[in-house]
Amino acid sequence: MSSAEGGNRIPLTDTDRIYQREVSGRFQRLRVWGNLALLAGYFITPWLNWGERQLVWFDLPERQFHILHMTFWPQDFFLLAFLLIIAAFGLFMVTVFAGRVWCGYTCPQTVWTQMFVWLETRFEGPRHKRIRLDSGPWTPAKFARKAGKHASWALLALFTGLTFVGYFTPVRALLPEFVTGTAHWQAYLWIMIFAVLTYLNAGWMREKVCIYMCPYARFQSVMFDEDTKIVSYNPARGEPRGKKQPDNAVGDCVDCGLCVQVCPTGIDIRDGLQYECIGCALCIDACDSIMDKLDRPTGLVSYTTENELEGKTTHTLRPRLVGYAVAMVLMIGAFSALLATRSVVEVALDRDRNVLFSEALNGDVVNDFQLSILNKQPIPVTYELALSGRPGARLVAPETIQVAVGERVTVGIQIELAPQKVVQARLPFTLEVSGLGSSDVKTDIQSTFIGPSQW
Ligand code: SF4
Ligand code: SF4
Repeated sequence: MSSAEGGNRIPLTDTDRIYQREVSGRFQRLRVWGNLALLAGYFITPWLNWGERQLVWFDLPERQFHILHMTFWPQDFFLLAFLLIIAAFGLFMVTVFAGRVWCGYTCPQTVWTQMFVWLETRFEGPRHKRIRLDSGPWTPAKFARKAGKHASWALLALFTGLTFVGYFTPVRALLPEFVTGTAHWQAYLWIMIFAVLTYLNAGWMREKVCIYMCPYARFQSVMFDEDTKIVSYNPARGEPRGKKQPDNAVGDCVDCGLCVQVCPTGIDIRDGLQYECIGCALCIDACDSIMDKLDRPTGLVSYTTENELEGKTTHTLRPRLVGYAVAMVLMIGAFSALLATRSVVEVALDRDRNVLFSEALNGDVVNDFQLSILNKQPIPVTYELALSGRPGARLVAPETIQVAVGERVTVGIQIELAPQKVVQARLPFTLEVSGLGSSDVKTDIQSTFIGPSQW
């Protein structure tokens, strides 16, 4: 806005670059505090411990994901798939209700871009100064400002990469190793890849990622309906735009252009709903500040619905939204139940494939099995076995089986039955596998004892 930036009118954008102007207001405050919380969560989480180990640790070599007190194995990946489905439904529900608030407030691309723009503004100054700096000749001062900006970007990108790798390898060891040059080469590689991508995405590509690369932006608007809250300009109130004439012949929009200058994607909300709009509401803050100065009611640009703009009633509780909410509640319930009842031991009992049964020296019928136990608890566990459901059957197996954290132990076991007890060819039995000591886990496996059909 020329008037707000001093007498000379400054172009809103040059042809290939957006110079976003800083703005303050309630939505910007919400974004700043929300982003600070998200950034703090991202950067601090790897440094928190749960007992002896990292609170969140995706241990890829050991194929274990540690989150809080829980350890997840490749066998638990259906839970991750389930969680992603819930997240997708959550996103759909929020989008139907309030448009692209995910993009505007919480998407990592938005959060990091905001950080990078903030650093840029600290080194190069507000919008009009950045435009002049870029169009002016190279001077020592310009070089120093640019160098400072890029150094701060690189530092933030590097710290972002380091933190990201810290989710996959213990960060307390990684940081000193990284600084002293003793970290594994793969750690350096991934840190650098992530840092470079962060630097390019948030520093250089910015809104182009949202506009040209993000698939979500393309299909998100099809989820909108006429009751979805979207950032909109009220043309009935604002048009015809322009400076107020004595005869009051113009609308409330004074055509200051501030809503365009603060827009991270460089669009003009007055042109209507556009797929480039990420719903950040900065144009609302900008326009509200102008309306305040002019002593007119705020809300010329606001979160509103198509129905509201047309003077109709907005239906908040509509079938689609209620459907999403019900599906979400059901899925979260099912997920919680699955998580709570998730087995922390995985047991398999496989019959010896070479022979169905054999005869012992004392004449008993013998079945051979391979028993494998995977300990998914975060502590070593000693298991003991017991047989039930088959009177007279005898279990020949180690008294106890010790299984370290995350290990799978396979042992051979036999079940013997006196011939007179083999009343039919297939006899069901239950093998009970119980953890001793602090582990009270117990698993029952149903299987079948096979004997001759005629003895
Ligand atoms: S038009 Fe408004 S809400 Fe949309 S991206 Fe630009 S500033 Fe954000
Ligand atoms: S909509 Fe508001 S901020 Fe945008 S040009 Fe009009 S008065 Fe200025």
